[in-house]
Amino acid sequence: MPSLNLHLKDNSILTKYRILTLAFALAASSLIVGCSKTATAPANAKLATNTTSSDSSASSSGHSEAKPGDPQSSLELLIQGNERYVSGSFQPRDLSKAKLEELSKGQHPHTIIVTCSDSRVSPELLFDQSQGDIFVIRTAGNVLDKASMGSIEYAAEHLHSSLIMVVGHEKCGAVTAATTDEPAGGNIQYVVNEIKPAVAKARKLGGDLVAKSVDENVKLVVETLPGRSQILSNLIRENKLKIAGSTYSISSGKINIISGLDESPIVEEKKDETKPQKKG
Ligand SMILES: [Zn+2]
Repeated sequence: MPSLNLHLKDNSILTKYRILTLAFALAASSLIVGCSKTATAPANAKLATNTTSSDSSASSSGHSEAKPGDPQSSLELLIQGNERYVSGSFQPRDLSKAKLEELSKGQHPHTIIVTCSDSRVSPELLFDQSQGDIFVIRTAGNVLDKASMGSIEYAAEHLHSSLIMVVGHEKCGAVTAATTDEPAGGNIQYVVNEIKPAVAKARKLGGDLVAKSVDENVKLVVETLPGRSQILSNLIRENKLKIAGSTYSISSGKINIISGLDESPIVEEKKDETKPQKKG
């Protein structure tokens, strides 16, 4: 039967491919043991061919070695990743068994990404990050609810991610819906209502209402995050967490930082707790 023969032939090729992949992985792992700087040796050679020689410096600080650190380092990892995405020079993906085993022991995402569910806005791609690098929360219009707040709190408190990056995007359907007075229907109305205050601010600014609303919606989320969470405000006060905001251009692939680390919300020390008690 031709189909069976073809199937067996495919399996044979697959087996050979697996042997080659295993051999390559073993060779790569021996390199890793010999030299820690080559720890990004690719298990997937096809993806590795996209990497130019100029990326060797980036790989030493790139996603494969990403760990929770300071917010500035986390931000730089995202910016460098987006630059690779825009230029088409993706870092090699380490999808080896060893890497998966390492990931099975725990996760240490350097950044929490809060962005839209839009199918054209894939954080791991547009920031060129890999498994374990970023903790992602996606809702239409990057609006927040209790489930998304709980997710952010979990990553910030228990996984020690040092940066929250809010990412809005060009031509966001949820934001566009919020610029009209049309009833959205169902639970979509909740999403629209959450964005309305940003649209009201954008109207006062003039210009392209949707684009300005996208910006204001990002800023609104950045500004209101600490007030929605005692856990986040504590971490911000302790200088363990910062919040930045950006927009993503679907047409160019570029991330534009519209609220940098200098604009990260500040949470003041509680003064009442340090009041000396009166002697009785
Ligand atoms: Zn959107």
